[in-house]
Amino acid sequence: MKAMVLKKWGEELSFEEIPDPEPRYSEVIVRVYACAPDQFDVTIRDGRAGGNLPLILGHEIAGEIVSVGKGVEHFQEGSKVVVHPYLTCGHCKFCQVGRNTLCLNFKGYIGAHTNGGYAEYVAVPEENLCFLPDGIDFALATTIVSPVATPLKALKTRAKIQPGQTVLIVGACGGVGIHAVQIAKAFGANVIAVDIDDQKLSSAKDLGADHIVNSAKKDFADEVLEITEGIGADAVLELVGTDLTLPKSFSSVSRTGVLVVVGFQPGKIFECDPTRFVDDEILVTGSRYVNKAELSEAVEWVGSGRIKPVISGTYDLKDAEQALQDLASGKIFGRAPIQIIKN
Ligand SMILES: [Zn+2]
Repeated sequence: MKAMVLKKWGEELSFEEIPDPEPRYSEVIVRVYACAPDQFDVTIRDGRAGGNLPLILGHEIAGEIVSVGKGVEHFQEGSKVVVHPYLTCGHCKFCQVGRNTLCLNFKGYIGAHTNGGYAEYVAVPEENLCFLPDGIDFALATTIVSPVATPLKALKTRAKIQPGQTVLIVGACGGVGIHAVQIAKAFGANVIAVDIDDQKLSSAKDLGADHIVNSAKKDFADEVLEITEGIGADAVLELVGTDLTLPKSFSSVSRTGVLVVVGFQPGKIFECDPTRFVDDEILVTGSRYVNKAELSEAVEWVGSGRIKPVISGTYDLKDAEQALQDLASGKIFGRAPIQIIKN
């Protein structure tokens, strides 16, 4: 098969012809129709997430099953699927209650610790598959895996947003953010979108943001207080998580509100006054990806048209390196999947 292979950490991917994968016990082979690069691929490529070389990157995968290994029970050839990229044990105390991404025996990620989707075929454990209904374009379906699923859980389950609440989204024009805007709006929230590009912010407004703030030009914490008449946002979704944005996000949370961190920079410390935990009863928490049921819910949101996947272009497989570089340099709005088969 054709694949983009990483041979050395930090170096460019190379377009290669390599043997097709064979399914091991309880695995299937998925013909990859589309696979979207995201920032985590940049981290993986640089060797900052572990894994083994040579490696095929890619964990936002949509495709069709072309063969099944022994022990596969629920999926057949021809099934259309998206892939849950976490390799978890399924039986520890956290997996048992559906908190699989907090698995005590976590084995890593498809596309980092096993080969991923920048290829014509990928071997995937059956437990990582999620059915995709007919009629969803595969390139659009790649957005389900993270850009739709991640904020859907963060806003619904972690922030527990309610109609009429104000939701602040910091990093609203990234792949996850632009879908978070739509989800918050669908929940009936008043949405404030913060990012640093006027053109992308304008698109965020078209997709449902009630207020947009360019944080390169204005202090977004001041703007949020002005928009909310001094009260702050009921929920703040942090998708950037730098030592510049986190203090502003923290001070933007209203009394009884919640700050949910999804994007972050490891080791970046920010100070916060603990008075606010008591006097204002605010919550600060995080959200680590989703379980299979939550991924299925994201499929439903896209399948029913409740959310519009934002795709700003596609790349051929051999141009995956360019796709990664364009993503890393902020040229992409929403997602721009590598499209291996056009459907
Ligand atoms: Zn587990």
